Amino acid sequence: MTTESRIDLHTHTNVSDGQDTPAGLVHAAARQGISVLGLTDHDTMAGLDAAAEAASGLGVTLVPGVELSTTVDRAEVHILGYFVDNRDDGLLARLDDLAQSRIRRVTQMIERLQGLGYPIDGDAILAESEVGSIGRPHVARGLMEIGAVESVNEAFDRFLKAGRPGYVPREPFSPEDAVRLLVEHQAIPVLAHPFSTRDIEGILKRVVPVGLKGFETYYAEYSPEQHAELRAIADAWELIPTGGSDFHGAGVREGRELGSAPVPTEVWERLSRLHRSMDDAG
Ligand code: AMP
Ligand code: ZN
Ligand code: FE
Ligand code: FE
Repeated sequence: MTTESRIDLHTHTNVSDGQDTPAGLVHAAARQGISVLGLTDHDTMAGLDAAAEAASGLGVTLVPGVELSTTVDRAEVHILGYFVDNRDDGLLARLDDLAQSRIRRVTQMIERLQGLGYPIDGDAILAESEVGSIGRPHVARGLMEIGAVESVNEAFDRFLKAGRPGYVPREPFSPEDAVRLLVEHQAIPVLAHPFSTRDIEGILKRVVPVGLKGFETYYAEYSPEQHAELRAIADAWELIPTGGSDFHGAGVREGRELGSAPVPTEVWERLSRLHRSMDDAG
C-alpha cells in the first residue's frame, strides 16, 4: 500500500471569514496528518506569510491560494487561485481594490440595517478590515451581537441573502475577469464548489476559454455520487478535479471539517506538475 497523503486545498482563516489564525490553521492541519494544505481566503493573501512560516516547521506543504468572489447576475461564482504570489505588487493592488469594494459594500449594508432599526456596531465591524477582507459574515456576527439573530445562518436567511432587506449587491466582478487576473499573475484558476451555480456548463463555457484549469470536484459537502458526477464533467473538459473542505473553523459550518474532503493524491500531483511546468516556461 502506498502512503496516502491527506490533502485539503480549500480553507479559510480569520484574515477573511474563518475562525483560526493562519498559523493556528496550519497547526490544526499538522495535528490531523494533513500534508498538503491550500489556504484560500476570500479575496486576500494576507494570511499566506504566517501560514507558510508555520508550515515550514511542521512538514506541511502550504499551497498559497486565494478565493475570488464573483457574481453572475446576483448568483455567487467563486474562483480559486492556486500558487498565487503574495510578493506580486500588481496582484496585491487588484486584491486591495476588491478589499475597498468589500468595505464600501459592508458600509452600505450596515447603514441599511441601522435604518431598519437594528443598532449594529458599524465601527466594530469595519475595524475588522484591519485584519483582512470583510464581508457579510462579519455583518452577520454584528447582528448576533445585538441579539437580532441567533446564528450566522439566520442572519443570512433573514437579512443578508440576495433579496433580503440588508442585501447590497457586490460591485461587478465577473468570473472571466477573475480567471484572467489569475492567469495574468501565473496562478492556476479553479472553479469552486460548482453546484453553487445552477448552470455549470454555462459557466464553464465562459471561463474555460479564458484559462480555467481546474474544477473543484472532491468538495467535502458533496456526496460520493456528486463527486462522481463532477469528476465526469472535469474529465470531459480536461480540468484538474481539485478538492477541499472549505473549512471556516471547527464546528463553524456543518460538513466542512478540516481534512474531510476525499482528495486523491493524484489530483495534487497534477496540480503541482502544472505549476512546475508554468515555472519552467518562465
Ligand atoms: P460576501 O463575500 O461578503 O458576499 O459573503 C459571502 C460569504 O459568506 C461566503 O463566501 C461564505 O463564506 C459565507 N456564507 C454564505 N452563506 C452563509 C451562511 N448561510 N452562513 C454562514 N456563512 C455564509
Ligand atoms: Zn467564507
Ligand atoms: Fe466559496
Ligand atoms: Fe471558501
